[in-house]
Amino acid sequence: MIYDEISIKSLIRPVPDFPRPGVIFRDITPLFQSPRILRLVADSFIQRYVETDFSHIGAMDARGFLIGSIIAYELNKPLILFRKQGKLPADVLSEGYQTEYGEALLEVHSDSLCEGDKVLIFDDLIATGGTLMAAARLVRRMGASVFEAAAIIDLPELGGSQRLEDAGIPTFSLTAFS
Ligand code: AMP
Repeated sequence: MIYDEISIKSLIRPVPDFPRPGVIFRDITPLFQSPRILRLVADSFIQRYVETDFSHIGAMDARGFLIGSIIAYELNKPLILFRKQGKLPADVLSEGYQTEYGEALLEVHSDSLCEGDKVLIFDDLIATGGTLMAAARLVRRMGASVFEAAAIIDLPELGGSQRLEDAGIPTFSLTAFS
């Protein structure tokens, strides 16, 4: 692996009690202020996936779009946007889910995928796994399958990565906080 976990970790800022008391928000904006580390993060995923066999990247609203779109660009793959409720203009499929701090609806354009497509689903962080599990359900509703779920950060104590693995979805993250 080319990535330098210590450098990446040092640029993820913990913000206690945001957006609610008791939550430590893992702020990735400092990563984007370091071109060197941003390149390390993106290249780590690109190196992992360059010789693998998947058809699409599915990126989660909104921070998943940032690296997800770089991976799609570099690997020349179509990019699918999974968005919060009400953001997509055409016909959508929706799935409800719970996050670490609330309930939400995830949507995707209903014509984004076809039977047989294999999707790498991507977000900045895995907490309870609710977002990526909802994305996986949407992928399957279109007859496609999930190749892997990937994120920059895993919070293993919240159980999301285990939940994804238990549902048969291989899961990968660059770093974790306990
Ligand atoms: P979950 O669906 O519970 O796995 O939550 C993951 C989604 O919520 C991701 O899109 C994250 O951006 C966001 N999220 C949840 N918890 C945190 C956290 N502690 N710090 C930053 N983002 C979070």
